[in-house]
Amino acid sequence: MSMLVSMSIIESQSAASVHASSLRHDWTRGEVRALFDLPFSELMFRAQSVHRQNFDPSEVQISTLLSIKTGGCPEDCAYCPQSASYDTGVRAEKLMALDAVLAEARAAKASGASRFCMGAAWRSPKDRDLDSVRAMVEGVKALGLETCATLGMLTAAQARQLKDAGLDYYNHNLDTSPEFYGRIITTRTYEDRLETIGHVRDAGIHVCCGGIVGMGETRADRVGMIATLASLPAHPESVPINMLVRVAGTPVADEPTLDPIEFVRTIAVARITMPRSMVRLSAGREEMSEETQALCFLAGANSIFYGPKLLTTPNPERDRDRAMLDRLGMSAME
Ligand code: SF4
Repeated sequence: MSMLVSMSIIESQSAASVHASSLRHDWTRGEVRALFDLPFSELMFRAQSVHRQNFDPSEVQISTLLSIKTGGCPEDCAYCPQSASYDTGVRAEKLMALDAVLAEARAAKASGASRFCMGAAWRSPKDRDLDSVRAMVEGVKALGLETCATLGMLTAAQARQLKDAGLDYYNHNLDTSPEFYGRIITTRTYEDRLETIGHVRDAGIHVCCGGIVGMGETRADRVGMIATLASLPAHPESVPINMLVRVAGTPVADEPTLDPIEFVRTIAVARITMPRSMVRLSAGREEMSEETQALCFLAGANSIFYGPKLLTTPNPERDRDRAMLDRLGMSAME
């Protein structure tokens, strides 16, 4: 498709989302592809315009992520060092004790986090485990933090129980496009993912849902992923965009590094198509230059994970992040 055709296809979208910030849920792949194909400066201008209409561009929301149950996962997500299918050196551990989780949550709050995310390497939680997680949610909430959990697939009843405990957000990523999904995960389907997201939404919990790029997918797959997210009945309130962290022992460990500009484009297209969502610059920041991160903020990313570890993979130290945000004149969102 020529650049001129690409630009004319998105003309009507531009009027809708840039000028009126209306939310659309009918994004076609052609429209999303046309955004990806824009000249970089044009794409950045549009993404920044949408961002400024909906958010203060100098603010970033800060979340902290804790692995409350590490390793030994029966799922086979090709990017994940916690899958029992791969030999990555991550040992299976038991569910953390409530007191230990609350101590981490207090420390996260003291470091400026407004949301505390708890991740467990399960296919889906057993009822006994869910009781323990509910106690954690109640305890973290009582500290004055927003709560988020990622525990695998949920039934409708489990989602309601978590809502009753005070859970604000549930993370369940689509990971990639429907077409590429089978290359990354074989132990559950795209439809399984969508079903859990539906249960979470129906229970009244905010949805945190995004994906990972750099796993060997094509631009068409990145288009498919964003088009699917932006066409959900309600846009996820949080959209984490992860750059693959290549871990030795996982099937995607030797994938070539994705061009950082293509990563920034993915953030920009997420911002334009989901104007009011928090777009999170998520995993992969440890290997990313501060210049690339700055471009991501310009493209509309307005959320990061803070703290030296993202589940089992490294993340920038808090001091380094603080210095970067200071350098960029950005501050933590209340
Ligand atoms: S991403 Fe989650 S579900 Fe997949 S293997 Fe890792 S811990 Fe298990």
